Amino acid sequence: MEIFNSVSALRLYLESQRRDNKSIGFVPTMGALHAGHGSLITASRAGNDLTVCSIFVNPTQFNNPDDLAHYPRTLAADCAMLQAAGCDAVFAPSAQEMYPEPAVVKFDFGALERVMEGQFRPGHFNGVGVVVSKLFNIVQPDRAYFGQKDLQQTAVVRQMMVDLGFQIELHICPTLREADGLAMSSRNVNILAQHRPAASTIFRILNQAKTSLLAGESSKTAQVHAAEAFASQPDFKLAYFEIVNLHTLQPVAACQPEGQTAICAAAFLGKVRLIDNVVF
Ligand code: AMP
Repeated sequence: MEIFNSVSALRLYLESQRRDNKSIGFVPTMGALHAGHGSLITASRAGNDLTVCSIFVNPTQFNNPDDLAHYPRTLAADCAMLQAAGCDAVFAPSAQEMYPEPAVVKFDFGALERVMEGQFRPGHFNGVGVVVSKLFNIVQPDRAYFGQKDLQQTAVVRQMMVDLGFQIELHICPTLREADGLAMSSRNVNILAQHRPAASTIFRILNQAKTSLLAGESSKTAQVHAAEAFASQPDFKLAYFEIVNLHTLQPVAACQPEGQTAICAAAFLGKVRLIDNVVF
């Protein structure tokens, strides 16, 4: 496995791979890798000759300096994991390498970012847009792999690809979970041991709401029940619990036609911010 810190060295390597007609799959990450990331590497390997994974904790997508400071960084372990997973190349640039000048261009994703993560984390999706478009231009993959866990991110990236004409196939991969249902996340290592048993609550409440909506309950009632369920868990503080159309991400009054409803939630467990969703 090759490890690159510089854009120019990665470009040279990828140019020679492209000359050999190798197809390129790309998995952008912020490191602190877990089996969820591993599943994206597996999907990329299955569909491409070559898999590139980027590891970059992108400062411009953090609106909270404390969150950025406490984001886990485990580059050596990440590289070992990627090597074992059969990844071909890792791109781990410094912030200076990615942003030799502060980015001035701004992304505004309109209604897609006025809700949920975009509403609670102002500027977050601008940071995502800048870094993902830049990484796409550097790597120029044939296919890119993202997790459904970050559902709003997948919608924003899809929109950006349409608007900017990226000729890249977007693959959305299912959320990998711990045995109790907690969505795998790099932030899970920051969950205090005494909070860990409660962490699966978020997925349980999402599923309860899904069952109620499928039975005909209104979104409003489902939201009230969910808020009550979170309130009964003293360590949880709910940020949002939204029932939305999968494509527009706008709130809906009730269950949508099959496959088009998403319930998205964000909650703090102690100081750790967790997000999760179900789609049905
Ligand atoms: P991150 O390192 O958190 O920026 O995530 C990098 C990619 O991995 C994103 O496309 C995430 O959606 C995806 N990802 C994160 N957690 C999971 C998970 N539990 N299952 C599948 N994909 C995930």
